[in-house]
Amino acid sequence: MPDGYDRRTIIEHRSSKNRLDPFVPYHFLHEQEPGLTGSVETVNTIFLTSKECTYTCLMCDLWKNTLDEPLPENAILQQIDYALKRLPAADAIKLYNNGNFFDTKAIAPADYPAIAGRLKSYKRIIVENHPHLCNHSCIEFSKLLNGKLEIAMGLETIHPASLPKLNKQITPEDFKRASAFLQQHNMDTRAFVLLNPPYIVNPRESVDWTLKTIQFAFNCGVVRCTVIPVRPGNGIMELLWKNKVYTPPSLDMLEEVFDKALLMQRGQVFADTWDISFLSECSYCFEKRKKRLENMNLSQQIINNIPCTCRNKYE
Ligand code: SF4
Ligand SMILES: [Zn+2]
Repeated sequence: MPDGYDRRTIIEHRSSKNRLDPFVPYHFLHEQEPGLTGSVETVNTIFLTSKECTYTCLMCDLWKNTLDEPLPENAILQQIDYALKRLPAADAIKLYNNGNFFDTKAIAPADYPAIAGRLKSYKRIIVENHPHLCNHSCIEFSKLLNGKLEIAMGLETIHPASLPKLNKQITPEDFKRASAFLQQHNMDTRAFVLLNPPYIVNPRESVDWTLKTIQFAFNCGVVRCTVIPVRPGNGIMELLWKNKVYTPPSLDMLEEVFDKALLMQRGQVFADTWDISFLSECSYCFEKRKKRLENMNLSQQIINNIPCTCRNKYE
Protein backbone atom coordinates (compact mmCIF):
# COMPACT_ATOMS: atom_id res chain seq x y z
CA MET A 1 0.00 0.00 0.00
CA PRO A 2 1.25 3.55 -0.65
CA ASP A 3 3.52 4.74 2.14
CA GLY A 4 1.51 3.13 4.93
CA TYR A 5 1.12 -0.15 6.78
CA ASP A 6 0.62 -3.40 4.91
CA ARG A 7 -1.80 -6.20 5.77
CA ARG A 8 0.86 -8.27 7.51
CA THR A 9 1.90 -5.45 9.86
CA ILE A 10 -1.73 -4.59 10.64
CA ILE A 11 -2.46 -8.22 11.54
CA GLU A 12 0.74 -8.57 13.61
CA HIS A 13 -0.47 -5.82 15.93
CA ARG A 14 -3.82 -7.46 16.65
CA SER A 15 -4.96 -9.12 19.85
CA SER A 16 -6.99 -12.33 19.62
CA LYS A 17 -10.52 -12.55 18.21
CA ASN A 18 -13.62 -13.22 20.31
CA ARG A 19 -14.78 -16.84 20.31
CA LEU A 20 -17.95 -17.16 18.25
CA ASP A 21 -20.47 -19.84 17.36
CA PRO A 22 -20.96 -20.04 13.55
CA PHE A 23 -24.64 -20.92 14.06
CA VAL A 24 -25.49 -17.96 16.34
CA PRO A 25 -25.34 -14.24 15.42
CA TYR A 26 -22.92 -12.51 17.77
CA HIS A 27 -25.49 -9.83 18.55
CA PHE A 28 -28.96 -8.59 17.55
CA LEU A 29 -31.14 -5.70 18.63
CA HIS A 30 -34.37 -3.81 18.02
CA GLU A 31 -34.10 -0.04 17.57
CA GLN A 32 -35.68 2.96 15.87
CA GLU A 33 -34.57 5.04 12.93
CA PRO A 34 -36.29 7.82 11.01
CA GLY A 35 -37.79 6.66 7.73
CA LEU A 36 -37.26 8.70 4.58
CA THR A 37 -40.78 10.10 4.74
CA GLY A 38 -40.31 11.59 8.22
CA SER A 39 -42.04 8.85 10.22
CA VAL A 40 -40.12 6.82 12.81
CA GLU A 41 -39.45 3.23 11.72
CA THR A 42 -38.61 0.22 13.84
CA VAL A 43 -35.47 -1.63 12.81
CA ASN A 44 -34.18 -5.09 13.68
CA THR A 45 -30.41 -5.35 13.40
CA ILE A 46 -28.74 -8.74 13.21
CA PHE A 47 -24.96 -8.81 13.58
CA LEU A 48 -24.14 -11.99 11.72
CA THR A 49 -21.15 -14.11 12.64
CA SER A 50 -19.30 -14.25 9.35
CA LYS A 51 -15.95 -14.91 7.73
CA GLU A 52 -13.49 -12.05 8.15
CA CYS A 53 -13.46 -9.36 5.46
CA THR A 54 -10.50 -9.57 3.08
CA TYR A 55 -9.70 -5.85 3.01
CA THR A 56 -7.91 -5.36 6.39
CA CYS A 57 -8.46 -1.61 6.64
CA LEU A 58 -6.11 0.22 8.96
CA MET A 59 -8.76 1.58 11.32
CA CYS A 60 -11.05 -1.48 11.29
CA ASP A 61 -11.79 -3.43 14.46
CA LEU A 62 -14.70 -5.45 13.08
CA TRP A 63 -12.43 -8.49 12.63
CA LYS A 64 -12.69 -9.07 16.40
CA ASN A 65 -16.14 -10.60 15.89
CA THR A 66 -15.46 -12.69 12.78
CA LEU A 67 -14.29 -16.19 11.92
CA ASP A 68 -11.16 -17.12 9.93
CA GLU A 69 -12.90 -19.72 7.77
CA PRO A 70 -16.05 -19.68 5.61
CA LEU A 71 -19.14 -20.77 7.52
CA PRO A 72 -20.61 -24.26 7.36
CA GLU A 73 -23.50 -24.69 4.93
CA ASN A 74 -26.79 -23.21 6.20
CA ALA A 75 -25.10 -21.46 9.11
CA ILE A 76 -26.11 -17.94 7.98
CA LEU A 77 -29.74 -19.06 7.59
CA GLN A 78 -29.70 -20.63 11.04
CA GLN A 79 -28.30 -17.40 12.48
CA ILE A 80 -31.06 -15.34 10.87
CA ASP A 81 -33.69 -17.77 12.17
CA TYR A 82 -32.14 -17.64 15.65
CA ALA A 83 -32.40 -13.83 15.78
CA LEU A 84 -35.81 -13.50 14.10
CA LYS A 85 -37.35 -15.92 16.62
CA ARG A 86 -36.24 -13.60 19.40
CA LEU A 87 -36.93 -10.20 17.79
CA PRO A 88 -40.29 -8.41 17.49
CA ALA A 89 -41.76 -7.41 14.12
CA ALA A 90 -40.17 -4.31 12.59
CA ASP A 91 -40.40 -2.10 9.50
CA ALA A 92 -36.78 -2.53 8.46
CA ILE A 93 -33.96 -4.99 8.99
CA LYS A 94 -30.18 -4.58 8.93
CA LEU A 95 -28.12 -7.66 8.16
CA TYR A 96 -24.60 -6.62 9.11
CA ASN A 97 -21.83 -9.20 8.75
CA ASN A 98 -18.76 -7.19 9.86
CA GLY A 99 -17.62 -7.22 6.27
CA ASN A 100 -19.33 -7.27 2.92
CA PHE A 101 -22.66 -8.94 2.29
CA PHE A 102 -21.77 -9.57 -1.36
CA ASP A 103 -18.42 -11.18 -0.54
CA THR A 104 -19.22 -14.67 -1.79
CA LYS A 105 -16.87 -16.20 0.80
CA ALA A 106 -18.93 -14.59 3.58
CA ILE A 107 -22.48 -15.11 2.30
CA ALA A 108 -23.01 -17.79 -0.37
CA PRO A 109 -25.07 -16.54 -3.36
CA ALA A 110 -26.94 -19.86 -3.21
CA ASP A 111 -28.42 -18.65 0.10
CA TYR A 112 -29.87 -15.39 -1.34
CA PRO A 113 -33.33 -16.84 -2.14
CA ALA A 114 -33.69 -18.44 1.31
CA ILE A 115 -32.47 -15.25 3.02
CA ALA A 116 -34.91 -13.14 0.98
CA GLY A 117 -37.69 -15.57 1.90
CA ARG A 118 -37.10 -14.83 5.57
CA LEU A 119 -37.24 -11.05 4.99
CA LYS A 120 -40.62 -10.89 3.24
CA SER A 121 -42.28 -8.76 5.92
CA TYR A 122 -39.66 -5.99 5.88
CA LYS A 123 -40.12 -2.90 3.73
CA ARG A 124 -36.45 -1.89 3.94
CA ILE A 125 -33.43 -4.22 4.02
CA ILE A 126 -30.00 -2.76 4.75
CA VAL A 127 -26.70 -4.59 4.19
CA GLU A 128 -23.04 -3.46 4.26
CA ASN A 129 -20.87 -3.76 1.18
CA HIS A 130 -17.56 -2.59 -0.28
CA PRO A 131 -17.81 -0.31 -3.36
CA HIS A 132 -15.76 -2.82 -5.40
CA LEU A 133 -18.29 -5.56 -4.63
CA CYS A 134 -21.31 -3.63 -5.91
CA ASN A 135 -22.10 -5.73 -8.94
CA HIS A 136 -24.75 -7.94 -10.51
CA SER A 137 -25.19 -9.91 -7.25
CA CYS A 138 -26.72 -6.83 -5.60
CA ILE A 139 -29.30 -6.61 -8.38
CA GLU A 140 -30.09 -10.31 -8.12
CA PHE A 141 -30.58 -10.15 -4.36
CA SER A 142 -32.59 -6.93 -4.64
CA LYS A 143 -35.00 -8.57 -7.11
CA LEU A 144 -35.68 -11.38 -4.64
CA LEU A 145 -36.83 -8.97 -1.93
CA ASN A 146 -40.29 -7.61 -1.22
CA GLY A 147 -38.84 -4.46 0.34
CA LYS A 148 -36.27 -1.96 -0.92
CA LEU A 149 -32.59 -2.81 -0.62
CA GLU A 150 -30.29 -0.18 0.90
CA ILE A 151 -26.56 -0.70 0.63
CA ALA A 152 -24.30 0.89 3.23
CA MET A 153 -20.74 1.51 2.02
CA GLY A 154 -17.68 2.88 3.77
CA LEU A 155 -16.58 6.05 1.98
CA GLU A 156 -14.45 6.72 5.09
CA THR A 157 -12.81 10.00 3.98
CA ILE A 158 -12.05 11.83 0.78
CA HIS A 159 -8.86 13.33 2.28
CA PRO A 160 -6.21 12.74 -0.42
CA ALA A 161 -3.44 11.83 2.02
CA SER A 162 -5.54 9.70 4.36
CA LEU A 163 -7.79 7.57 2.12
CA PRO A 164 -4.97 5.88 0.12
CA LYS A 165 -3.30 4.84 3.38
CA LEU A 166 -6.36 3.22 4.93
CA ASN A 167 -5.94 0.01 2.90
CA LYS A 168 -9.57 0.33 1.83
CA GLN A 169 -8.34 0.23 -1.77
CA ILE A 170 -10.88 2.73 -3.08
CA THR A 171 -10.86 6.25 -4.44
CA PRO A 172 -13.76 8.69 -4.02
CA GLU A 173 -14.52 8.03 -7.71
CA ASP A 174 -14.97 4.29 -6.96
CA PHE A 175 -17.55 5.19 -4.33
CA LYS A 176 -19.29 7.54 -6.75
CA ARG A 177 -19.44 4.86 -9.46
CA ALA A 178 -20.76 2.20 -7.06
CA SER A 179 -23.46 4.57 -5.73
CA ALA A 180 -24.57 5.48 -9.25
CA PHE A 181 -24.73 1.79 -10.24
CA LEU A 182 -26.86 0.86 -7.22
CA GLN A 183 -29.18 3.85 -7.62
CA GLN A 184 -29.67 3.08 -11.32
CA HIS A 185 -30.91 -0.32 -10.22
CA ASN A 186 -33.38 1.10 -7.72
CA MET A 187 -31.35 0.60 -4.54
CA ASP A 188 -30.74 3.26 -1.87
CA THR A 189 -27.24 3.97 -0.63
CA ARG A 190 -25.86 4.97 2.76
CA ALA A 191 -22.31 6.14 3.50
CA PHE A 192 -20.12 5.49 6.52
CA VAL A 193 -17.91 8.53 7.09
CA LEU A 194 -15.02 8.66 9.57
CA LEU A 195 -14.27 11.34 12.12
CA ASN A 196 -10.49 11.48 12.77
CA PRO A 197 -9.18 8.86 10.37
CA PRO A 198 -5.40 8.34 10.59
CA TYR A 199 -3.20 10.95 8.90
CA ILE A 200 -5.46 13.93 9.65
CA VAL A 201 -4.18 15.04 13.02
CA ASN A 202 -5.27 18.64 13.29
CA PRO A 203 -8.74 18.60 14.97
CA ARG A 204 -10.04 21.58 13.00
CA GLU A 205 -8.92 20.01 9.72
CA SER A 206 -10.40 16.70 10.77
CA VAL A 207 -13.85 18.22 11.39
CA ASP A 208 -13.67 20.05 8.04
CA TRP A 209 -12.69 16.91 6.10
CA THR A 210 -15.47 14.88 7.71
CA LEU A 211 -17.94 17.55 6.58
CA LYS A 212 -16.42 17.64 3.07
CA THR A 213 -16.71 13.85 2.91
CA ILE A 214 -20.39 14.02 3.93
CA GLN A 215 -20.99 16.65 1.21
CA PHE A 216 -19.30 14.36 -1.31
CA ALA A 217 -21.45 11.40 -0.24
CA PHE A 218 -24.64 13.44 -0.65
CA ASN A 219 -23.41 14.63 -4.06
CA CYS A 220 -23.18 10.92 -4.95
CA GLY A 221 -26.87 10.56 -4.12
CA VAL A 222 -26.69 8.71 -0.79
CA VAL A 223 -29.80 9.11 1.32
CA ARG A 224 -28.08 8.71 4.69
CA CYS A 225 -24.62 9.32 6.17
CA THR A 226 -23.44 7.75 9.43
CA VAL A 227 -20.52 9.47 11.14
CA ILE A 228 -18.20 7.04 12.92
CA PRO A 229 -15.62 8.40 15.38
CA VAL A 230 -12.41 6.40 14.85
CA ARG A 231 -11.47 4.58 18.04
CA PRO A 232 -8.20 3.05 19.15
CA GLY A 233 -8.19 -0.62 20.20
CA ASN A 234 -7.31 -2.69 17.14
CA GLY A 235 -3.56 -2.73 17.86
CA ILE A 236 -2.22 -0.81 14.88
CA MET A 237 -4.19 2.31 15.89
CA GLU A 238 -2.21 2.39 19.16
CA LEU A 239 1.00 2.48 17.12
CA LEU A 240 -0.37 5.27 14.90
CA TRP A 241 -1.36 7.21 18.02
CA LYS A 242 2.13 6.78 19.47
CA ASN A 243 3.60 7.93 16.13
CA LYS A 244 1.35 11.00 16.24
CA VAL A 245 -0.48 10.26 12.99
CA TYR A 246 -3.77 9.55 14.76
CA THR A 247 -5.54 11.10 17.73
CA PRO A 248 -8.91 10.00 19.10
CA PRO A 249 -11.63 12.57 18.37
CA SER A 250 -13.54 14.36 21.13
CA LEU A 251 -17.26 14.50 21.82
CA ASP A 252 -17.15 18.22 20.92
CA MET A 253 -15.91 17.32 17.46
CA LEU A 254 -18.64 14.74 16.90
CA GLU A 255 -21.27 17.23 18.08
CA GLU A 256 -19.96 19.94 15.75
CA VAL A 257 -19.89 17.59 12.74
CA PHE A 258 -23.39 16.32 13.49
CA ASP A 259 -24.88 19.83 13.89
CA LYS A 260 -23.24 21.14 10.70
CA ALA A 261 -24.10 18.06 8.66
CA LEU A 262 -27.77 18.34 9.67
CA LEU A 263 -27.71 22.02 8.67
CA MET A 264 -26.68 20.96 5.14
CA GLN A 265 -30.21 19.52 4.75
CA ARG A 266 -28.99 17.17 2.04
CA GLY A 267 -30.20 13.91 3.59
CA GLN A 268 -30.27 12.05 6.88
CA VAL A 269 -27.27 12.10 9.17
CA PHE A 270 -26.53 9.82 12.11
CA ALA A 271 -23.84 9.96 14.75
CA ASP A 272 -22.69 6.47 15.68
CA THR A 273 -23.13 6.38 19.45
CA TRP A 274 -22.00 2.79 19.99
CA ASP A 275 -19.27 2.61 22.65
CA ILE A 276 -18.35 6.31 22.44
CA SER A 277 -17.30 6.82 26.07
CA PHE A 278 -13.71 7.15 24.79
CA LEU A 279 -14.72 10.54 23.31
CA SER A 280 -15.24 12.23 26.66
CA GLU A 281 -13.29 12.76 29.85
CA CYS A 282 -16.26 14.20 31.70
CA SER A 283 -18.44 11.70 33.50
CA TYR A 284 -20.86 14.46 34.62
CA CYS A 285 -22.24 15.38 31.24
CA PHE A 286 -21.31 12.41 29.02
CA GLU A 287 -24.55 10.43 29.35
CA LYS A 288 -26.70 13.54 28.76
CA ARG A 289 -24.70 14.48 25.69
CA LYS A 290 -24.88 10.94 24.35
CA LYS A 291 -28.64 10.98 24.88
CA ARG A 292 -28.81 14.28 22.96
CA LEU A 293 -27.05 12.65 19.99
CA GLU A 294 -29.42 9.68 20.13
CA ASN A 295 -32.43 12.02 20.17
CA MET A 296 -31.00 13.93 17.22
CA ASN A 297 -30.46 10.65 15.34
CA LEU A 298 -34.15 9.98 15.69
CA SER A 299 -35.56 13.49 15.16
CA GLN A 300 -32.99 14.70 12.57
CA GLN A 301 -33.29 18.09 14.30
CA ILE A 302 -30.59 19.99 16.16
CA ILE A 303 -31.31 20.01 19.89
CA ASN A 304 -29.83 22.60 22.29
CA ASN A 305 -26.22 21.87 23.15
CA ILE A 306 -25.52 20.57 26.67
CA PRO A 307 -22.98 22.89 28.30
CA CYS A 308 -20.02 21.30 30.04
CA THR A 309 -18.02 23.54 32.34
CA CYS A 310 -15.04 21.20 32.33
CA ARG A 311 -14.98 20.97 28.56
CA ASN A 312 -11.58 21.30 26.95
CA LYS A 313 -12.50 22.86 23.63
CA TYR A 314 -10.30 21.55 20.87
CA GLU A 315 -9.81 24.86 19.06
S1 SF4 B 1 -13.91 -3.10 4.20
FE1 SF4 B 1 -15.06 -2.65 6.08
S2 SF4 B 1 -15.08 -4.59 7.24
FE2 SF4 B 1 -13.52 -4.77 5.64
S3 SF4 B 1 -11.62 -4.22 6.69
FE3 SF4 B 1 -12.43 -2.37 5.68
S4 SF4 B 1 -13.66 -1.33 7.26
FE4 SF4 B 1 -13.30 -3.45 7.95
ZN1 LIG C 1 -18.93 17.81 31.49
